[in-house]
Amino acid sequence: MTTHHLDTRLLHIGSAPFDPETGTAPVSLPSMRTSTVRFENLAALDRAMTRRLAGERAITYGRSGMDTHRALEDVFMQLEGGSYCVLAPSGMAAINIAFLGLLKTGDHVLVSDCVYGPVRNLDRALLQGFGISVTYFSAERDDIAQLVQPNTKMIYVESPGSLLYEMLDMPALASQAKAHGLILTTDNTWGSGYIYRPLMLGADVSIVAGTKYISGHSDVMLGAVIVKDQKLAARIHSAQYAMGNSVSADDAWLALRGVKTMAVRMPQHARNALEVCKFLDTQPEVLQIYHPAWHKDAGHSLWQRDCTGSNGMLSIELNCTPEAAKPFVDALELFGIGFSWGGFESLVQWVEPGTLSSHQHWKHHEHALIRLHIGLESVDDLIADLKQALAKIKK
Ligand SMILES: *Cc1c(COP(=O)(O)O)cnc(C)c1O
Repeated sequence: MTTHHLDTRLLHIGSAPFDPETGTAPVSLPSMRTSTVRFENLAALDRAMTRRLAGERAITYGRSGMDTHRALEDVFMQLEGGSYCVLAPSGMAAINIAFLGLLKTGDHVLVSDCVYGPVRNLDRALLQGFGISVTYFSAERDDIAQLVQPNTKMIYVESPGSLLYEMLDMPALASQAKAHGLILTTDNTWGSGYIYRPLMLGADVSIVAGTKYISGHSDVMLGAVIVKDQKLAARIHSAQYAMGNSVSADDAWLALRGVKTMAVRMPQHARNALEVCKFLDTQPEVLQIYHPAWHKDAGHSLWQRDCTGSNGMLSIELNCTPEAAKPFVDALELFGIGFSWGGFESLVQWVEPGTLSSHQHWKHHEHALIRLHIGLESVDDLIADLKQALAKIKK
């Protein structure tokens, strides 16, 4: 099976086994809802506990999941090229597992300034109180050697970054992390293992919000932490177990269903987004497009080197103030105003200017930044919608 293309493997992971009596099996793995399991006898319980203590997969209780969860863990491992996976009830919960599982009081962590916004809130709400200190840095230009302290344990990045989609040089970051004995953890929600594989580029821990492209239908919250190394896996598992997170089997099932169409959804989002870029590039109101697959993007050559595809995420810098861009956002008819992305539908986010003040990649504080998720609607309709809405800025 491992010799097959990833697209093939994604469809066949978790196929239910044949019933020995009837010789049949369901094509779609059922959602296995149960809070606990029954053991045939104490010897069976013993075997399961022994395997669990040895760090192997063994079903002993519902919280750590049943077959539906196992299949989804396999999906994440295949996507990311990892050997261990822990599921979480949201992307943010997965981020928590990584921070709290890998850091302790007195530790220091370097966090890239392009990081998903709520990570800064995790810092304020929990890490500071736990005595874990954070230094935000530009993973594009800052010298890590100058930022490392004796108690630094981890580098936490996101590539491409949230909002401006700056590509980071993951292999270079990995060699820096290695040189200083640090764990390199990255948020890979953008790539979701399908178009970008940080673990293959030297990262130690990859986090994916399955809420986005994995599920793909804006109907489930889900996260995963994927690692290669067994010792790191033990720490991640132990944190997950301690925190009591669990994922509903139905949610795991929805994510598994979403993954079956990933190979057609992702390239279509990417094609639509590039068509939108071509149109936006001709519009005088649009000063810059932030989308690494776009040939004029600053990170395009890194994207060409490290990515195998793209998606529907892009941001545009408009030749007007953030206030003046509001009528454009309100005039859009096919783009829902809202957070999140990775579902079938187009969305728009008016980026609060304050959230960009700490991004070193952002230089144009007087201009509006608008984030778009290009969905699977007809791209001609999306372009027509953007065109009529851009006209609202001119007035
Ligand atoms: C949405 C998102 C998350 C958080 O995922 P949730 O499932 O919404 O908690 C984490 N990282 C990135 C980059 C995201 O876009």
